Amino acid sequence: MSIDPHEIFENEFYVLDSNGKLFFADEYEADDEDFRRLLNKEVFLKSVDREESPHIKYLNKLKIADNEPLSDAGHLSYLPNGALMLELLRRYSTNVILSLGAYPVVTSIMYDLNSPPVKEHASLFGQRMYKVKPAKREFVLRYAACFGQFALLSRKYITYKDLPLRVFELADSYRYEQRGELSGLTRVRRFFMPDMHVLTKDMEMAKEEFFNLYKLILDEGRKFGWVYYSLYNMDPTFLKENFDFIKSLANLENKPILIHTVEGGKYYWVLNVEFHYIDSTGRPVETATVQIDVGNGERFNITYVDENGLRKHPIILHTAIHGSLERFLFEFLEEAAKMERRGVKPRLPVWLTPIQVRIIPVNPSKNMNYAMKVLNILESKMIRVDVDDRDVSMGRRIKDAESFWIPYIVVIGDKEEEEGKLSVRIRDGAILTIGVEEFIDILDRDLEGYPRERLYINKFISRRTSFA
Ligand SMILES: [Zn+2]
Repeated sequence: MSIDPHEIFENEFYVLDSNGKLFFADEYEADDEDFRRLLNKEVFLKSVDREESPHIKYLNKLKIADNEPLSDAGHLSYLPNGALMLELLRRYSTNVILSLGAYPVVTSIMYDLNSPPVKEHASLFGQRMYKVKPAKREFVLRYAACFGQFALLSRKYITYKDLPLRVFELADSYRYEQRGELSGLTRVRRFFMPDMHVLTKDMEMAKEEFFNLYKLILDEGRKFGWVYYSLYNMDPTFLKENFDFIKSLANLENKPILIHTVEGGKYYWVLNVEFHYIDSTGRPVETATVQIDVGNGERFNITYVDENGLRKHPIILHTAIHGSLERFLFEFLEEAAKMERRGVKPRLPVWLTPIQVRIIPVNPSKNMNYAMKVLNILESKMIRVDVDDRDVSMGRRIKDAESFWIPYIVVIGDKEEEEGKLSVRIRDGAILTIGVEEFIDILDRDLEGYPRERLYINKFISRRTSFA
């Protein structure tokens, strides 16, 4: 039986279905298997099987990252391919955020734990803080970009005409997660967060901005072919007073939403949406987030001057549109794991693949000149291309390229050289005989709208450091 939104309790789970009806979560019969997984995790606290997350083996296989024993647990060292992928994700995410008109800033990673706003904010995190005490003052390492941005904004003159004001930072962040929970890219103690805060003048503007960011997060997920399952952590009073707004958000999804009501007035936010990605083993993992914060404007003494010349505290939105870069990368790797489970060759989007094109000269001593000519043309278009110049069999070289998920393998022999063509093996199995220009057109289509970066490793395989 559905519930009247005015009759909800604190500390309870509810489901809002796609018809706008509210139910107790433990009475709700979910048809959607992935939504059931979210219910199991959050409401019934059932842990999913202990199988190791498949993305972890890819970190090694694709030479992305490994753990650093000389640092703390949960601090990864990225190898050149991983450094490249992080850079591409950073640039992609930053571009999406800059297109919203956000102002980038770079702030400090540590804040004085004895300053009242930092202390108060940090008390919510408790054991999850990293502390640094170089001399007398004790600092906390940021666990998100909030501190630096709020402190900066509190010193600046802002008027109602500046609002909504969007500030952005790609912040390396530190959380002292429990050791037993550390896992691959999903739980780390050091991570990179593309973190934006939006100052708004009142709840009306906050809701409008929130709605747009919410829609953007869903659109970004869909762009890569994945569906998020939402958990709304909410102050019960906010739910009662804004039920139509909540329904308008849920309407964007056309599937049930899980709601968790918290203790009224306890948190700095009144609405905190977590978007969960379901990985290849069926585990929901929180990635993107957007929140309405009614407490930190006052706590950090951020003010703006309104139409009547009065100083007011803004309502602030917090958002990470793609979650942390680590979880963003995790999603792409888990999509590949899903392909492998279906019996399809795993792959990454071409823009994110460390090596996009491999050229294999049939006879390296004979076809190398032409191979290098093609390589130079592709390289001049900022396509990541390398050449397998090793004196080993063709079969072995193709197998190596395949095992590294390279989307395009170009074989160059006497025939191709004579005809001025390329033989391109696409990862899905097709083989094309095309000219260089035509091949560049295909790559341009793959890469449209995505950042381009050169190879981070030697283009000659025979001279490359293996990082094995
Ligand atoms: Zn924040």
